[in-house]
Amino acid sequence: MVAGLVPYVPGEQPKLVKLTKLNTNENPYPPSPQVVAAIQTAAEQGLQLYPDPESVALRTEIARQYGLQMDQVFIGNSSDEVLAHAFFALFQQGAPLVMPDVTYSFYQVYCGLYGIPMHIVPLAEGLRVDVEMLTAPELAGVVIANPNAPTGIGLPLAQIERLLQIHPQHAVLVDEAYVDFGGESAVGLIARYPNLLVTQTLSKSRSLAGLRVGLACGQRPLIEALERVKNSFNSYPLGRLAQAGALAAFEDQAYFAQTCAAVVHSREGLVLQLEDMGFEVLPSQANFVFARQPQFDAAELAAQLRARAVLVRHFKQARIAQYLRISVGTPAQCDTLLEALAAILG
Ligand SMILES: *Cc1c(COP(=O)(O)O)cnc(C)c1O
Repeated sequence: MVAGLVPYVPGEQPKLVKLTKLNTNENPYPPSPQVVAAIQTAAEQGLQLYPDPESVALRTEIARQYGLQMDQVFIGNSSDEVLAHAFFALFQQGAPLVMPDVTYSFYQVYCGLYGIPMHIVPLAEGLRVDVEMLTAPELAGVVIANPNAPTGIGLPLAQIERLLQIHPQHAVLVDEAYVDFGGESAVGLIARYPNLLVTQTLSKSRSLAGLRVGLACGQRPLIEALERVKNSFNSYPLGRLAQAGALAAFEDQAYFAQTCAAVVHSREGLVLQLEDMGFEVLPSQANFVFARQPQFDAAELAAQLRARAVLVRHFKQARIAQYLRISVGTPAQCDTLLEALAAILG
């Protein structure tokens, strides 16, 4: 059975240091200094002891900021792990899970792992998700990323609400990995929609890809289902350092706001400059842009960028094979990218 699994292939994590790494949507800025200090303190106290299995301090702070109860927040060792638990807990009913045909590729991987059939819905014009089409005669639920990956296109909250209303009897999982870069979060809908589960990660907007912390928010029955799976798998998914660092990241709101704004500002400049070079850039609400140059093959362009020590992500999937996904870097990294592109495009 395992021999038939098709695993997710993460973007390259190069060992070379001189590369400009714009291929895996990490934050170009380091985490808040308060995060580093909190991890240092945690490292000096009690590492011989197991961590809090329920991450209560962290969940309490997230609940406070999001206007939820602490027990409406679930924490996992990365949002990929949270997603895996959610798929296991909510979607193994025999009926297909509905998702758009261009989205985060890990969803299909989890369906393969758990034997969940899929109902894949084509995108509408301009690689947009049409929520009216996200349905099937029979379904186990719906999963979407908002903003979507790898397009970067965000759906307005009214569209998410519409999706929840179309499927009152089914769990709707909204993956908000990129929401802090200008999207609209559905967390405020949780009180009114028992079928809504929202997942987020600290990997992107909180600069903590290396710490591996993700979360889910929803009403008790959905969160309780996740807790059952978690406690049947690993009761201590987050170590002491991760809990301390994640808590400090949520507490340092000013740093969070400042780094998100810097990324959004760089994105806006990058879009204009790519357009000047003849790229078509999809409207992005994420920390990356999805763009194509009609005169240049995308795989070739990615290879030539790589030869110039700039990494971007290219997907071979037919519908998007002419696009490049470019993470928004620091202003200096964006300049390096644009200089390399200028040299290649001539
Ligand atoms: C990056 C990403 C994740 C995974 O985040 P981790 O917490 O680092 O596992 C989940 N969903 C989407 C859409 C992502 O882009």
